[in-house]
Amino acid sequence: MTQQYNKPLPHPQGESDVYWQKAKQHELWLRRCDECGKAYFYPRDISPCCFSKRTSWMKASGRARLHTFAIAHRAPTPEFAADVPYVPAIVDLEEGPRMATNIVGIGEPTPEKLRIGMPLVVTFEDVSDTIALPKFRPA
Ligand SMILES: [Zn+2]
Repeated sequence: MTQQYNKPLPHPQGESDVYWQKAKQHELWLRRCDECGKAYFYPRDISPCCFSKRTSWMKASGRARLHTFAIAHRAPTPEFAADVPYVPAIVDLEEGPRMATNIVGIGEPTPEKLRIGMPLVVTFEDVSDTIALPKFRPA
């Protein structure tokens, strides 16, 4: 049932350990700037808004809207050949940050099934013993 995952995997490190630990529990967590309250992504110790080191972790709602997408019909590398067609996308998280992800849960992807601004919700794909990747499906 479980196939060997043969694509590149993230390497959690100091600034992103919590993010990946929470993702493995199927929760999406962001960093927030404690100076101005803005959430940001990707996780890093210094906020990109205020360059503040006063930051904290926050659990995201998991809700987002589709910002932009493509439908990939040609695999960028042989490891993706079994996935095509698939949908790389950028989503606007409810908390504000944008993130790169994939849209899933729509069957065979066609442009008719995807609309800019459509509501989405996070879902997680377990790809190894330690890594689960956040992806989004229609809400
Ligand atoms: Zn800030």
